[in-house]
Amino acid sequence: MIETIKKYCNSLTEYSRYKTSEVNIGDVPLGGNNPIRIQSMTITDTMNTIATVEQTIRMVEAGCEYVRITAPSMNEARNLENIKKELRAQGYKVPLIADIHFTPNAAELAARIVEKVRINPGNYVDKKKFEQFEYTDQEYQEELNRIRERFTPLVKVCKEYGTAMRIGTNHGSLSDRIMNRFGDTPLGMVESALEFVRICEDLNYYSIVLSMKASNPQVMVQAYRLLIQKMEEEGMNYPIHLGVTEAGGGEDGRIKSAVGIGALLEDGIGDTIRVSLTEDPEYEAPVAISLADRYKSRLNHKSIKPIVDIPIDPINYKRRETFEISGIGRSNVPSVVSDYRFRKIFSQKDLTDIGYKYDEASDKWFLADAAADILYLGKQNITFGLPENLKLIIDYNEWNKLDSKKLRFPLFNKISYLNRKSFSDQINFLEVKINDLDLELSSKIKTDSKLVLVINTDNEHGMAEQRRLFFELISNGIKNPVIIRRDYKNILLDEIRLHSSTDFGALLLDGLGDGVWLSAEMSNDESKSESKLTQVKESSEKFINRTLFGILQATRTRISKTEYIACPSCGRTLFDLQETTEMIRKRTEHLKGVKIAIMGCIVNGPGEMADADYGYVGSGVDKITLYRGKDIIKRSVPSLEAVDELIDLIREDGNWTEPSENNIY
Ligand code: SF4
Repeated sequence: MIETIKKYCNSLTEYSRYKTSEVNIGDVPLGGNNPIRIQSMTITDTMNTIATVEQTIRMVEAGCEYVRITAPSMNEARNLENIKKELRAQGYKVPLIADIHFTPNAAELAARIVEKVRINPGNYVDKKKFEQFEYTDQEYQEELNRIRERFTPLVKVCKEYGTAMRIGTNHGSLSDRIMNRFGDTPLGMVESALEFVRICEDLNYYSIVLSMKASNPQVMVQAYRLLIQKMEEEGMNYPIHLGVTEAGGGEDGRIKSAVGIGALLEDGIGDTIRVSLTEDPEYEAPVAISLADRYKSRLNHKSIKPIVDIPIDPINYKRRETFEISGIGRSNVPSVVSDYRFRKIFSQKDLTDIGYKYDEASDKWFLADAAADILYLGKQNITFGLPENLKLIIDYNEWNKLDSKKLRFPLFNKISYLNRKSFSDQINFLEVKINDLDLELSSKIKTDSKLVLVINTDNEHGMAEQRRLFFELISNGIKNPVIIRRDYKNILLDEIRLHSSTDFGALLLDGLGDGVWLSAEMSNDESKSESKLTQVKESSEKFINRTLFGILQATRTRISKTEYIACPSCGRTLFDLQETTEMIRKRTEHLKGVKIAIMGCIVNGPGEMADADYGYVGSGVDKITLYRGKDIIKRSVPSLEAVDELIDLIREDGNWTEPSENNIY
């Protein structure tokens, strides 16, 4: 199995950047020993030179090192010249990237003007009609020959003008030909790009950057890992552009992006990042910078014992096999622990922040979909009655003194566990770090059918250390459920969201973890925060609970709310995507598990909606087309009526519920 690891990253235990070739993009080289570059894309109309220039400048000021601009047709491609001239006149040398869809002649013109072009192999020359075609080997080859013929002129222009090219696959827009042969899979995504790369190499053109984006972070992570494996097999090492597409906005968009991008960065993968949010693009760069900055000092982390044998498959998801203890482990959704160690609980009201609302008149508890499952109390206890589903964890010494232990369970450390005088006959929790796991402890854990492990780390390369611990458990046949715990110190709210999404997300995407537990000591200096999101004051328990449920949602390990797949918008968008997304969210956010895509244009939107249940797609000025899955249900709905029509469609399918008054979030 070690061979498999070597092919997708340098090491699973020692932080090391995966080395790629260097590609020049204007004056800002990418890959090789260069730092992880930050980039984003304008959302203005490319024909509006001034608006595009102004937005580009705001993005550069926010930290973008490259700026991408959409060039869907010849007119926009031509106007890139004016945009570039104006930027240079104002002293901005930022390399520009033309985003191309479908049109070779626009690409060939843009490649003469800007420093890099981006093509999507799913829709550049190739067919994408959502029809299932049968392709014989001969037809497949004929299509490839046709692509080669149509793609070659662009490669030649790029070679002549020193223009770089990103071949960027999107999971949602694979061509019919690729879908037919490889399906909607990471392998299909990788092959889709490599077919184009092989043509480039035949023409001795190597200024290539590759990306494998998807809106589902799990698909995205697997596709990038597979891409590296395949590149190694074919002797390639092109720089890697990381991104999660259609991530949405606000907290969800940040969490989803950090899960996918962060999981790869942890393994040293990635030369440039674009975080796509349904927000103004200048808000994207600070998120990308925060994700990348974590690795500036990572090389000096405490060493972790190397892995001899990797017991999981990094390309195919499989949850680690565990037994169940009172609803934790096996096939149960991961549990969420809320840490109230530092917050004194006075009354039922203190639990509203983690999804429990108490109605005094009826003496009833109402639970949110995102209600924590376990409450860690440290040394305190609660004297009022609690709902039956909520488990309390109390430090062993305090727990031992309790008269009534109903719904209360002890937390041991290694010493107290090995010397314990009493224990719960239902569930016991043992907190361990990697070095605690010696032979004696491992054999005791293995035979303790009432023991849930809580794994923690103080290593700066903590995700890798925790993953190493999981591997140790798997290799030793230990099947106790595991709660992943992380303690962050002196950290900003924005950083908690991004760092925890990376740290928990990377493990959950590999099927590791039966619960999540996050505690944080916040930094007082919130002035350094990147976003307006932190300006709303709320308790840290509420913020953390929502973040943890968001991470579980993003990794699709526990669905507790509606999922939005929203494109970041661009020059093709014909309506205010941010406002519309917010409007749809307000009316549908209680529809647990329903996936709604909100896409700016009919040209690319339907292809990029991935696995959404419903699509709200701009199809003209003030016109919306509604989709059920990939099927058009209503065309040209006036935008004023479109949200109501969307809700009617959800209702017709039996997927609508009325929002509850007791909905806490
Ligand atoms: S789907 Fe959105 S981001 Fe993609 S091309 Fe259309 S409007 Fe632009």
